[in-house]
Amino acid sequence: MDYKKLADLLYPNVDKTIEDYEKMYPERNLSEDAIVARFAPSPTGRMHMGNLFASFIPETFAHQTNGIFILRIEDTDDKRAIENGEDLKAYKYRIDEDPINGGSYGPYIQSQRKDIYSAFGKYLVSIGRAYPCFCSEEEISQIREIQTEKKDRIGYYGKYAKCRDLTYEEIEEKIKNGNPWVLRLKSNGDFNKKIVFKDLIKGTIEIPENDIDHVLIKSDGIPPYAFAHVVDDHLMRITHVTRDDSYISSVPYHLEIWESFGFKVPKYAHISPLNKKEGETVRKLSKRKDPEAAVSFYNERGIPEEAVKLYFATLLNSNFEEWYNQNPNSDIKEFKFTFDKMSKAGSLFDIEKLINISKTYFSRLKASNLYDKTLEYLNTYDKDFYELLKNNKEYTISVLNIEREVPRPRKDISCYSDVKKEISFMFDELFNKDNYKTLEIKKFYKPEILEDYFENVYNKEDEKQDWFNKIKEFSVKYNFCPDNKEYKLNPDKYLGNVSDICELIRVMVTGRIMSPDLYEILKLLSKESINKRINLFKEFLNN
Ligand code: GLU
Repeated sequence: MDYKKLADLLYPNVDKTIEDYEKMYPERNLSEDAIVARFAPSPTGRMHMGNLFASFIPETFAHQTNGIFILRIEDTDDKRAIENGEDLKAYKYRIDEDPINGGSYGPYIQSQRKDIYSAFGKYLVSIGRAYPCFCSEEEISQIREIQTEKKDRIGYYGKYAKCRDLTYEEIEEKIKNGNPWVLRLKSNGDFNKKIVFKDLIKGTIEIPENDIDHVLIKSDGIPPYAFAHVVDDHLMRITHVTRDDSYISSVPYHLEIWESFGFKVPKYAHISPLNKKEGETVRKLSKRKDPEAAVSFYNERGIPEEAVKLYFATLLNSNFEEWYNQNPNSDIKEFKFTFDKMSKAGSLFDIEKLINISKTYFSRLKASNLYDKTLEYLNTYDKDFYELLKNNKEYTISVLNIEREVPRPRKDISCYSDVKKEISFMFDELFNKDNYKTLEIKKFYKPEILEDYFENVYNKEDEKQDWFNKIKEFSVKYNFCPDNKEYKLNPDKYLGNVSDICELIRVMVTGRIMSPDLYEILKLLSKESINKRINLFKEFLNN
């Protein structure tokens, strides 16, 4: 058969050749080890953690090699809204080429690439690797029924591939009659043979060859995923295809398309899904069942995207966490991620661990930076607290700086919504009798001790050591034991020990048994504020 003639019969209006497209989208001028990768979601609405993790991977590898990261929308099966990009932007992924900002290798929306697919389809016809199939849906279901009955493999292949051997004249006749057709691959594969390919994550995979004459392009000119991704990944000069591991079983088919064109095959890295442990069983993290799978979960609590990405980094390479803990001053970009350290089986998504990493992240922020970011969050989620902090900038920064910017900073904040819980007691506007309501009253909770201490002993100017020595001296007056060892030997002789005095001061001032450094807290509170609290504490004890 004259395949060139057939190609012209099927695609009379396609005049661009694949060489034209090769020229339009030339090899990228990048260094040899630069990775060009893409995230290629179907437009299924807003993203969830699984998608964000899946896009974190190509973005990370592309940028750590000075490569390119592309967002491509695969809307050939699904025409819903294109919102995917918004979450990627909110998560500050650096996208080099995408549908909105464009790039030299676009369009980046598959439904706008129909002409390209036709030219590439026409090419495969012209070399005898693709053919038109006129089978109706009924005929295809009939084939399936026969195969089911005979317990044969399902699919359009071998003797079942009715249109594979149509003559030029038969095809011409059907085209003249206006019969609709799809373009099918003319497979050369043998299902009884195996192909071996190397996956960057899963290692060497052996799997039967493809022998099915799959549909490359549908009758409306739109290709299903397989053909579209080969054409796009080739023309966008993708070097690494990272995608869900559910695609592994289709790799033989995909490789056959690549080979039929004679294109250089990119490296494949099939990613295991994020899992969740539920009792003893492990299942896929689910958008429907798991609240922590939704991006809104993080936005509402104020878990910053930086912390989520640090957590992703630990899922990506298990040795990242140790590095992160040991390198408090380094940027995530300095860590070298590799494919071979990725989990073959799938990682467990563990929100507790994410929160822990977030605490470390927060503990490393400078107070002024934490202040700015907290305001940003509060502006959306808590207007009153926002106003309060905005009107007390210097004071708030000092409060946030307690046990911060020191070698072992405090780790009490895991998200922006924690900030209020952790520091609201420092604001008189938010401090009232209720701050004491969960306290268990102890025998040494005596307001006169506090009055005496703040009236006659406490001096804001004291250095920490002097401050503490004075408390020790003072404790004797009210029969608190200044020495811990002695107190342990004879506890009944005393009202308490010196740490009880500190506790008394602490609970009165903060309403809490545990708090950040008491010395620092006292230094920041005004005299009026302390007096106000002594009175509130008295009221609380009298009720
Ligand atoms: N559109 C495909 C999906 O959402 C993308 C697969 C790929 O990355 O190649 O599953």
